[in-house]
Amino acid sequence: MRKTLRQRLTEGKVLLCDGAMGTMLQAAGLEAGEVPELWNLRCPERVLAVHLAYVAAGVDIVTTNTFGGTRIKMARAGVADEVGEANRQGAQLAREAAAGNVFVAGSLGPTGELLEPFGTLSPAEAADAYAEQAAALVKGGVDLFLIETMSDLAEATAAVMGVRRVSNLPVFCTLSFDTGGRTMMGVSPKQAAEMLAELAVEAFGANCGLGPDEMEGVAREFLIAKPGAAIICQPNAGVPSLEEGRSVYSASPETMAEYARRYAALGVRVVGSCCGSTPAHTEMIGWALEGYR
Ligand SMILES: [Zn+2]
Repeated sequence: MRKTLRQRLTEGKVLLCDGAMGTMLQAAGLEAGEVPELWNLRCPERVLAVHLAYVAAGVDIVTTNTFGGTRIKMARAGVADEVGEANRQGAQLAREAAAGNVFVAGSLGPTGELLEPFGTLSPAEAADAYAEQAAALVKGGVDLFLIETMSDLAEATAAVMGVRRVSNLPVFCTLSFDTGGRTMMGVSPKQAAEMLAELAVEAFGANCGLGPDEMEGVAREFLIAKPGAAIICQPNAGVPSLEEGRSVYSASPETMAEYARRYAALGVRVVGSCCGSTPAHTEMIGWALEGYR
């Protein structure tokens, strides 16, 4: 019988997550302005192919293509009535690729609206949207939730609360930091660590925003703030440059892998990658983590 995720986390080993989904789908033909989550329904084979490539690269955790799957975000694209199916099917596709051998993380990203007092969205409305998305992800068969790329601790908290209303599966949560070492809403890694430890999520840390070198500093701050916690690091494949209107990411699999090993040596327990990374990066990261997994 496979160990549960909570058992794996308490063993102190490093878990390997997959890499980018969005930039992989763009490479597969997703146009700017298209709703990526609708691909779970319209061209599921292309989403499945990405999951299968990450599973083949040796991950412990695959992440669903449901990052923008809250009703609030999908309503802005005029597709609110597809929230349930897009999320359920998103979870099923990842589950199909996982084939019972790896864990499936249900991705929940920002709503795209600012919460009070900076915007008009109330924490209760945000929590409702996350609860609805989480319920659909559970129907599709996720093993855990990954609340990711958050900037506002109030929204992250609403997401955790919403998810917990419908499920007691493990919750991971990441915030996205910029080169100044803060999120877009001014949150420091220390503030994030304190709040997320208080919310008692199973693992927390940083994703996106930074390349692997700059993320090392953020990882250190998380570990200093909460030394016993399971910290997550999922950097982008470097800082993108614009070439002919497209973002080009330059960090090689070797570079990402070298930093992944440094994170593991520091005590980071969940390692993956974000925008611009590919299954080739993931495979090399897994190789570099030999001895830590
Ligand atoms: Zn990213």
